[in-house]
Amino acid sequence: MEDKVRAAVAAVQAKENEYLKDLEMSTMMLKWIAEECERENESEKVQQLEEGVLDVVKCMNELKHHIDALETVRQEYKYEGEPTDFAHILQVQEKHFSDTRPENPKDNSWYKKFEEAVWNVHHAGIPVGGHGDDEDVIITNSQFNLVNHSCPLTGRLVTDLEDPVWHVECHHVYSLEGVENHLKTVRQRSCPCPSSGCPRKLTRNSVKCDNELLAQIEEMRHRQNAGSSARPAVSVADIAADEEEDDSDAEESEEEEMS
Ligand SMILES: [Zn+2]
Repeated sequence: MEDKVRAAVAAVQAKENEYLKDLEMSTMMLKWIAEECERENESEKVQQLEEGVLDVVKCMNELKHHIDALETVRQEYKYEGEPTDFAHILQVQEKHFSDTRPENPKDNSWYKKFEEAVWNVHHAGIPVGGHGDDEDVIITNSQFNLVNHSCPLTGRLVTDLEDPVWHVECHHVYSLEGVENHLKTVRQRSCPCPSSGCPRKLTRNSVKCDNELLAQIEEMRHRQNAGSSARPAVSVADIAADEEEDDSDAEESEEEEMS
């Protein structure tokens, strides 16, 4: 009985984690649209998008509290012969989490990524990050901080991997199959992380795939596509010049009508 309840709760948690991932991805898409709007100096639209991101972040926080409340039920549920009021337990737990961990949506990392990306449109940031002498290093800001862009074991681009995983400590990205084959080849459960110069140990349990990795790969794909179809930059001066022309045309036609 208890095992059945735990399994059911775990299934709901998995589903809700999927929703959470979708919400995170949606903040990323809103960010990309906002970057376009900011480039066109449509600050009103950018502001609306920002409010949208904050709303999504609030939903994400509520969902996280719900997932954590489920976790409490999963760990502490005991069958005591009486029907259990799960809805009530969840409600109490959620309230507990939102009271004890109040989160300001503006502190959320997805909101910060949004804010920073919009800022960078007109105030290009100083590149941060990098990883010593690794040739694959992409020097960048927090928008785009995968430390390698191809898997050192399979040679495939990170954006082409079907089974991407990253090392939990050094964040080097690999193909999972590549990692498993590599560990078989070296006939060890653990070996040095195959990225050159990395001091970490690689084991099957030292790599994982999570929402953050998938989001970063998605971001990398977006940047690559945006880069390959880059539009010519339109400066504010060009737009201002166009507007002046339009005005003068209007004046001329008015004059023509007058005469
Ligand atoms: Zn590493």
